[in-house]
Amino acid sequence: MAQQEDVFKKIVAHAKEYGFVFPSSEIYDGLSAVYDYGQNGVELKNNIKRYWWEAMTLLHENIVGIDSAIFMHPTIWKASGHVDAFNDPLIDNRDSKKRYRADVLIEDHIAKIDDKINKEVEKARKRFGESFDEAMFRQTNGRVAELVARREAIHDRFSQAMNDNNLDDLRQIIIDEEIVDPISGTKNWTEVRQFNLMFKTEMGSTADGAMTVYLRPETAQGIFVNYLNVQKTGRMRIPFGIAQIGKAFRNEIVARQFIFRMREFEQMEMQFFVRPGDEMKWFQYWKEWRLRWHKALGLGDEKYRYHDHEKLAHYANAATDIEFLMPFGFKEVEGIHSRTDFDLSQHEKFSGKKIQYFDPELNSSYTPYVIETSIGVDRMFLSVLSSAYEEQKLEGGDSRVVLRLPAALAPVKCAVMPLVRKDGLPEKAREIVDDLKFDFSTHYDEKDSIGKRYRRQDAIGTPFCITVDHQTLEDNTVTLRHRDSMEQARVNIADLHRLIHDEVSLNSLLRKLK
Ligand code: ATP
Repeated sequence: MAQQEDVFKKIVAHAKEYGFVFPSSEIYDGLSAVYDYGQNGVELKNNIKRYWWEAMTLLHENIVGIDSAIFMHPTIWKASGHVDAFNDPLIDNRDSKKRYRADVLIEDHIAKIDDKINKEVEKARKRFGESFDEAMFRQTNGRVAELVARREAIHDRFSQAMNDNNLDDLRQIIIDEEIVDPISGTKNWTEVRQFNLMFKTEMGSTADGAMTVYLRPETAQGIFVNYLNVQKTGRMRIPFGIAQIGKAFRNEIVARQFIFRMREFEQMEMQFFVRPGDEMKWFQYWKEWRLRWHKALGLGDEKYRYHDHEKLAHYANAATDIEFLMPFGFKEVEGIHSRTDFDLSQHEKFSGKKIQYFDPELNSSYTPYVIETSIGVDRMFLSVLSSAYEEQKLEGGDSRVVLRLPAALAPVKCAVMPLVRKDGLPEKAREIVDDLKFDFSTHYDEKDSIGKRYRRQDAIGTPFCITVDHQTLEDNTVTLRHRDSMEQARVNIADLHRLIHDEVSLNSLLRKLK
């Protein structure tokens, strides 16, 4: 674990050193859980967004996009339940003066017990070898059975307390389980309180005072309140979807782990409107399709898993997360939820407007059911960045740091380098840049030795380096170096476009989703 934390620190440092992610307001000592994307970060982020947007809207003829405002009528958040129920239970430790989410403290505690169980199982697997029967072992081994029973008991009590909103019992679990503050090491806990995560601000200034508005905590509501507009103007027929990418804001109590949990972040959400009764079929469809989207990036199939929710939000009748193996364990990157007709019905109730769909095939009207896919751009960015980061030992005692980014997402696609800064090589290299730049993000680099220039490009994940040397002037060939294999091939300038395009285009990535 310590080693993993080390790697994570290195990734954070690398992200800053190479212009991917900077702490916000850094010259003023930063602003907690807010980050800025730098010159390479913004390109990677835009490419992730394009991959999502095009996969959703280009590949599905029944999905269209919108871009709704961050400010919305405050009653929307009353209708959606956010004003009353978008809370986290918080608890303070009186000694460290640190604030925690009570539910997270308990979940972490349960995860530690799971770790212990898994360690026992792994030890036994090694001991018994081929003949190991895991199910049998879990049932019959005394120590494991005891841990499993304890885990189940805590888990049941925890689920009950969360379902009942029983803050006293949440605190009591922390006391009974002797959970200590990781910083002070003490059990000196305050009461548990509810904390609403929405940021409030004021709009306008009239004689009666200003109106309280919220910074949206999710983009989804902008889709729901535009359901009628899009359905009517786009003459959409159910089933159909509306996609949106945009900023969301949550006043997270504990904001740790870099861009994993931020107070200002970006979401890519799609609401898919279906006939009541068809929702489970579509839930399955989107659950599978979204995982396919992730896997097509080639970050490693073993790094993903589903986590089906046992405890469902009051409006949902099915929910699952797609989790990714981050340097700090499997974590949620995307949620897929079957939200029934909750949101549209609520907006119908609060706005007094009829929000229904007339289904010509059934010759009747109904409130559509909704399947939602909701993914955080920043978490996606972190999963791509952390799985791409690699420190490699090379032959001859050399080493390099390379970002093995999926080529279609890389901020820079190719770098063109004259071997030396004379003899007309820079001019020739510029000519190549001037041609490639219309299709690919292309860098020109002439400073330092060629080895150093390669390392710089490796560190930001550039898939191709093109070197112009004296032979180029004679026969119009260059060396094309691949980032991952470091292999170099002599190719014709005329072939560059095709060779690069085949590997870096978003098009080839999208085709994998067919
Ligand atoms: P968590 O349980 O981690 O707080 P959540 O279940 O509240 O997440 P959702 O409300 O389902 O998250 O939001 C959908 C997606 O938005 C998440 O899967 C995640 O990728 C992203 N997201 C949510 N909160 C944050 C945040 N504070 N910072 C960055 N991304 C976030």
